[in-house]
Amino acid sequence: MCGIIGYIGGNDAASIIYSGLQRLEYRGYDSSGIAILNAGAIDMQRATGKLANLLPKLTHFQATHSSSNKQVGIGHTRWATHGGISEANAHPHLNQDGTIAVIQNGIIENYVELHTELQQAGVRFHSETDTEVVPHLLDLRMRSGMNFEQAAFAVLRRLRGANALVMMCTAVPGRMIAARLGHAGGVAIGHDEATGEAFLASDVPGILEHVRRVTFLEDGEVALIDAWHTDLRKLDGTTVQRSAITIAWDPVSAEKGEYRHFMQKEIHEQARAVTDTLRGRVNFESGEVTLNGFDGVRPTRIFSVACGTSKNSALVGRFFFESIARIPTEVDYGSEFRYRDPLLQPGEVVLGITQSGETADTLAAMSEGRNKGARVWSIVNSVGSQAERAADATIAMRTGPEIGVCSTKTFLASLVDQYMLACFLAQRSSDASIVARGHECARALALLPGLVGRMLDVDPIYEQLAQRFHDRRHFLFLGRGPNYPIALEGALKLKEVSYIHAEGYPAGEMKHGPIALIDEHMPVVCLTPQDSVYAKMVSQVEQVRARGGTVIAVITRGDEVIRAKADHVIEIPPAPELLLPMLTAIPMQRLAYHMALRLGCDVDQPRNLAKSVTVE
Ligand code: GLU
Repeated sequence: MCGIIGYIGGNDAASIIYSGLQRLEYRGYDSSGIAILNAGAIDMQRATGKLANLLPKLTHFQATHSSSNKQVGIGHTRWATHGGISEANAHPHLNQDGTIAVIQNGIIENYVELHTELQQAGVRFHSETDTEVVPHLLDLRMRSGMNFEQAAFAVLRRLRGANALVMMCTAVPGRMIAARLGHAGGVAIGHDEATGEAFLASDVPGILEHVRRVTFLEDGEVALIDAWHTDLRKLDGTTVQRSAITIAWDPVSAEKGEYRHFMQKEIHEQARAVTDTLRGRVNFESGEVTLNGFDGVRPTRIFSVACGTSKNSALVGRFFFESIARIPTEVDYGSEFRYRDPLLQPGEVVLGITQSGETADTLAAMSEGRNKGARVWSIVNSVGSQAERAADATIAMRTGPEIGVCSTKTFLASLVDQYMLACFLAQRSSDASIVARGHECARALALLPGLVGRMLDVDPIYEQLAQRFHDRRHFLFLGRGPNYPIALEGALKLKEVSYIHAEGYPAGEMKHGPIALIDEHMPVVCLTPQDSVYAKMVSQVEQVRARGGTVIAVITRGDEVIRAKADHVIEIPPAPELLLPMLTAIPMQRLAYHMALRLGCDVDQPRNLAKSVTVE
């Protein structure tokens, strides 16, 4: 989850940055660091563990601070994705001669390629992180004659993934450059015009004590910041005009930041949520998955138990467990599991999936599993919850609090967690081909934050669909394979926040009943990415059209076949087949959000629903 703070001004930069990092501490991290550019040189201090371990090192900066000149400083709390938890891996990272410092949130997807290129150019690395490629790339470009700004744009254009970065260089004292790429965590910037100070943070609470008017970077934007001004640009260098937003002091507005609703914010936080749940668990080079608390004994069968959104997530997870780990998996409603009188054997696992960790029906199903001799695992967002305490092993989703009642980022995180668990279990198989598949599938996860980020681009289609269809009373959602549960989730989201009746179906079932409903008043959302069941989905779209239904298709970018047949299309990027549900889920959320908005519904607190369902 990690945090970023930046400061330019005449006050004690180290203390300001430290206290900003403290305000973001609740987001979780494993090491921290601060670099200050003062009197033409960069000084850096880093520490592992809690921020308190960095505190004694701050005296070092204070000794050299004089209020006569403006300092530039950047600080970071790291949550490791690439390379272990060590002082050398903590941010900031420097170039060879220590004239450039960089901090980064996120994952640089193509860092192996960049690392190899730099090694061939003779660069020596001091850490195992993906981030360290950035100061070296900047350095090489500046040595070839570019100034800092030109080098920054050139390097940023080469990075792939979802990242927020801040960099500074001794060649331009008094400035820093920040960028947000691929819908990584936020970057908020504010100025105190009276004193000539600039404040930057990944999350508004980090700077709210200093500034209330804040400008947010959007995806693909770069900020050239000095003490008095921020010059906003796109990655191609063109200027962006955007006014600052005034943030109210109350904690709720501060937490919502640039968004109107928590649901909207949480949808947009998903690239970050995915990165956070992967952190420290996947080695993206070897594909090795490490899950603390899991003993590595492969269950002979998994019974996933869950309710609502988590149940849909479990249905996707079944594909992961069966296809990646080759472990037979059954999925049941938490509220129904006990009444089946389930037949459980030692060696089998009951896996409870619950965002709150307090869902009464899921807890009851887990305890049924325990009483019948199964092992019990859980996937939860709320650490310390009952579902964690009741389990032998737990994967924490680590998305941060989800305030919108309708689950979005926890749905995605729970999909990623099941996928990781499937890779972990595959890697413990005695069959070498399953082990190899476990590694290959885990390596593909490095692409996921970037792919998810691309699903969050500004896209007028959602407003257009809401404008056109908000008065319909019924919707149908169709999908096949791992996208069938996403059709269920699409219908559930729409019901929950816009109160429009919707049904999700496996596409092949349409002709066995729901086809009777289709006429020109029925919008049908078809999940048709180019996967192994694509051809079958094409014929499904034909059948809907033949009956006069309106087709809204979720297609792979460049698919002209379905584009020609559908009335409306939403595009997703091409991706490995088993990652597709993590992408197709996002249009389901965005469609529901915009429909609810258009209908004037209470998006964050839909009627009759509760975030944590603690009654049976
Ligand atoms: N990929 C970065 C690293 O491992 C992650 C930094 C972060 O987001 O905290 O250093």
